[in-house]
Amino acid sequence: MRKFKTESKKLLDLMINSIYTNREIFLRELISNASDAVDKLYFRSLMDDSVKINRADLAITVAFDEDEKTVTVSDNGTGMTKDDLDKNLGTIAHSDSFEFKAENSEGDDVADVDIIGQFGVGFYSAFMVGKKVKVVSKAYGSDEAWAWESDGVDGYNITQAERAEHGTDVIVYLKDNTDEERYDSFATESTLRNLIKRYSNYVRYPIQMEVTKSRQLPKPEDAGDDYKPEFENYTEVETINSMIPIWKRKKSEVSDEEYNEFYKTDFHDFEDPARTISLHAEGTLTYDALMFIPGHAPYDMWSKDYKKGLALYSSGVLIMEKCEELVPDYFNFMRGVVDSADLTLNISRETLQHNGQLRAIARRLEKKIKSELASMLSDDREAYEKFFKEFGRTLKFGVYSSYGMAKDTLGDLLVFYSAKQDKMITLDEYIADAPEDSKAIYFAAGDSRERLVQMPIVTTVLAKGYDVLLCDEDVDEFCMMALHDYVSGEGSADDENQAFEIKNVAGEDLGLTTDEEKEQAAKATEENSSLFDAMRDALDGDVEKVVVSTRLTDAPVVLTTEGTVSLQMAQMFKHQPGGAEGAPEAHVVLEVNDKHPIFDVMKKANEAGDSEKVADYTKILYNQALLVEGLPIDDPLKFAQQVSKLMV
Ligand code: ADP
Repeated sequence: MRKFKTESKKLLDLMINSIYTNREIFLRELISNASDAVDKLYFRSLMDDSVKINRADLAITVAFDEDEKTVTVSDNGTGMTKDDLDKNLGTIAHSDSFEFKAENSEGDDVADVDIIGQFGVGFYSAFMVGKKVKVVSKAYGSDEAWAWESDGVDGYNITQAERAEHGTDVIVYLKDNTDEERYDSFATESTLRNLIKRYSNYVRYPIQMEVTKSRQLPKPEDAGDDYKPEFENYTEVETINSMIPIWKRKKSEVSDEEYNEFYKTDFHDFEDPARTISLHAEGTLTYDALMFIPGHAPYDMWSKDYKKGLALYSSGVLIMEKCEELVPDYFNFMRGVVDSADLTLNISRETLQHNGQLRAIARRLEKKIKSELASMLSDDREAYEKFFKEFGRTLKFGVYSSYGMAKDTLGDLLVFYSAKQDKMITLDEYIADAPEDSKAIYFAAGDSRERLVQMPIVTTVLAKGYDVLLCDEDVDEFCMMALHDYVSGEGSADDENQAFEIKNVAGEDLGLTTDEEKEQAAKATEENSSLFDAMRDALDGDVEKVVVSTRLTDAPVVLTTEGTVSLQMAQMFKHQPGGAEGAPEAHVVLEVNDKHPIFDVMKKANEAGDSEKVADYTKILYNQALLVEGLPIDDPLKFAQQVSKLMV
């Protein structure tokens, strides 16, 4: 018996004792080795005239024996000599990254899962399901065949064998069933068919399997009236895989229906995708990508368990079903496939290099997704708005959670509801429509557009000729804050392309009042300090200041805020789990309209020393202002009583 080399032994132990549940990938690994062996022989035939191979004859065969409980993967590729068997199956390629992981994984099952899940683990994965593995191989051009056999424990034997043609058979003798795992289910037609379709559907050579079918026997001529059709079983060799991946085909050669069908079957959607993106890159990084913008959000999109990512293939072999690194969080709705021969299944590749390639691909995909969305926005507005209804929240959240870093990518993809134009508009469209002198994008945040558009702080800005974006989603205000400013079109701010500051209409300085107006208001505030102090005291900490407003026309009062936290935000913080304690608070200002008749009433009451009336009216006004903004009031009963008192 020959002993395994140390690294091989480590990997073997890892395989055999792995808690990894995805044992089924052994088939993918064996098929992928078979495909490599066939590839190698085919390339040799291209280089060397003496190697006479007909590409059409090259194939991989999967066979099973339900009684013996074996699964066999065969190929008619290069095959291995006695030496090859010893060298290739007795050792695994030296790999620093693997050694590192294997050494650090002792007693740490998480690391095992990581290795096995992320990379191919090759031939040894057969020991995850097999108690014994036998490899019978005949190298091309040799007339000797050899068998390698091992129970995976500490060594293997190599003996002379028989094989008609060049190529290799890998025979896996399945382990006995346990309570957790039914190993014998691998030796069935339906399981193998499913696994081939799932993991190896796009391998470039046919994967053939003998399958059992049923057919109706011809009706005998002398059959009577009571004849019942009879059936017989027969076997037939079938090619299970589809061989040419749809993502490798040119866009012009694939019909929309084919793309849609592929999307629907592979990504389990009942609706066609909104857009299909097909990409073929060559050069330093060679890959094919096929991506879809779904027509609607999946039901679990907003749940914690939702996983973003694209399926990652290496030369037609599935490596990972959802590779997260391929799409940024703000494009987490994208579905699709990336296939690159540059990413090998080989575990001996450096992990870091692997990630570098992935990142480079991800950057290009991101650009492509961005440009597709931009063209959808300009060519098919209706479709884009439908898309935005489904996924706009994700884009807005992307602006917010990147603290504005993603704003170059996402800013021009955002649409908001324009109070003036009564439709969704982009920030560029806002700027294009803004009055000459304006330098700001105004927005109002609340929970309903209908209410927002009637709010005094909104109507005053509209009355001055400026548009207001009505933001009724909870993420909107955070998104606007993170955007901070916006420059129309591409490029940065210069003389022609000014940055527009994004302003909440409930914020301090909207830049809509002249210095003179401001001075006047400050003077009036000063003059009425005795009344305003009394009002502030009546509200007992709910507002920080009471001032004369420069923005009101019809309403008696309005609540505004200083600093970045608005009333709506403060509410949201308060309602986050565990948020009530120490949540950021708004600096609230009660602005009073000194042209309003109510102001005179309050002023007179204060002068007459009727402090109860001043306090009552202040509370009513304050609560009214909250209601107008769609915010809850502290004590509705008290409020109702105070209003009733006024009526009698
Ligand atoms: P790898 O990642 O290199 O494929 P494996 O452990 O799966 O690692 O296989 C080790 C080596 O054994 C391969 O590199 C190849 O040279 C050889 N090998 C495995 N399967 C076959 C096969 N079906 N035909 C020919 N050679 C094979």
